[in-house]
Amino acid sequence: MPSDSSSLQSSAVINEAVQTLRDGGLVAFPTETVYGLGADAKNPDAIKRIFTAKGRPSNHPLIVHLAASDKFDQAQVDWVPVLAPWVRDLSEDALKLINAFWPGPLTLVFKKDKSVLNELTGGQDTVAIRAPAHPIAQELLRKFKGGVVAPSANRFGKVSPTSAADVRSEFEGMLELMILDGGDCEVGIESTIIDLSSGDHPVLLRPGLITPGEILAKTGIQVYLPGEIDSVKQGGDMPRVSGSLRAHYAPTTPLRMYASGRVLDALSEFPDIKSRVAVAVWDSESSLGVDGHPSAHFEEVLVPSDSAAFASRLYRSLRDLDQQGWDLILFPEPPAGEEWDGVRDRLQRACFGSGPSSSSHANS
Ligand code: AMP
Ligand code: MG
Repeated sequence: MPSDSSSLQSSAVINEAVQTLRDGGLVAFPTETVYGLGADAKNPDAIKRIFTAKGRPSNHPLIVHLAASDKFDQAQVDWVPVLAPWVRDLSEDALKLINAFWPGPLTLVFKKDKSVLNELTGGQDTVAIRAPAHPIAQELLRKFKGGVVAPSANRFGKVSPTSAADVRSEFEGMLELMILDGGDCEVGIESTIIDLSSGDHPVLLRPGLITPGEILAKTGIQVYLPGEIDSVKQGGDMPRVSGSLRAHYAPTTPLRMYASGRVLDALSEFPDIKSRVAVAVWDSESSLGVDGHPSAHFEEVLVPSDSAAFASRLYRSLRDLDQQGWDLILFPEPPAGEEWDGVRDRLQRACFGSGPSSSSHANS
C-alpha cells in the first residue's frame, strides 16, 4: 500500500479490494470517523475472520456500512430501497435522521430483517447501520454493491486507528491484510449511535460528533440518554455496544485526567511516581508551569481547545504519546457541554483500560 497519505486510492486498487471482500477476505479502509476492518456482511466465515483478527468476543455486534448507488448526489438519495434488505421497518423518525445526517458519522440501530446474519448482530434481533461519508469508503461500498461490516481496525480494547499506518501497526502479523489509504480521519472518534429499535424513544448508545442537541435542532427529534429510559428495555446484560465496556480505546502507558489547574492531584495515585510525565495542556492556556514535584519531570503537549479539533487528534495523540516511553500521560478533563461528551466518553474508558496490563487483549 502507498504510504503517502495524501494520495487517494486508484480504481484498480479499489477493484482489488472489492474482489478481496467477494472472496471472503478482510479489507481495512478509511472512513471519516476511524479506519474500519471490513468484511462481506453476508458471509459468515468472513465475519468470523474479523472477530479472530481483532480478538473481539463474538457477542459484540458489528455495524453494517452501506452506500447509495448514485455517486453524485448522496444528499438526494432515496435510502428506503438501500435499507430494505436489512431493516424490518423504517419509521418516519428514522427517515428524518437519515435524510438529515447520511452520509455521515451517525449509526442507527433498527430491528433487523430476518436475513441479517446472527454472526454480525451478536445474536440480537437488531442491526446497526451507517452510511460513511469518506469518498474511498463510498467507492468501495458502491462497487461492492452490498453491506460491509466494519468495526474499528484495531485489536479489541485498543486505541482506534485514524491512519493507514496505525492499522498496519495494529495488525503487524497480518502482512497479507489489504489496507486502503485515505489519509488521516477527519472526525477522529467513532460514530454517534442512536437506537431506534424500541419504536418509541430514540436512545443515545454512544456519543460522537453528532450530538442530541444538533439532532433536535435539525430534525425536531428528541434523543434520550439510556438512563432516561426504562433500563429493562436495554437488552439485559448483553453488551450491545462494545465501546460501552469501562475499559476501551486504551493505551499501554498509564493515562489519567486532571481537573483544571490540579495536575499534581492526579499524581496522588502514583506515590512512587517515576520521572517522565507528559501533560496535555489546552492550546488556549499558554502553559501550566507545573513544578513543585520532587521526582517527576513534566513535559507539556498542546491539545486543541475546540471539541471537534480535539476529537480529530485524540487517538493520534494517544498513539504517539504511547510510543514515546512516558511513565504517565495526563489529559485535562474536558469541559461540561454535550459537544465534549464524545471525547469525555473515550478518554474515561481509555484511562480505565490504560497501563501495562492492557497490552493483553483478553482483559480489555
Ligand atoms: P466498533 O467496533 O468500534 O466499530 O464499534 C461498533 C459499535 O456498534 C459497537 O460498539 C457495537 O456494539 C455497536 N453495535 C453494533 N450493532 C449493534 C446493535 N445491534 N445494537 C447496539 N449496538 C450495536
Ligand atoms: Mg472499536
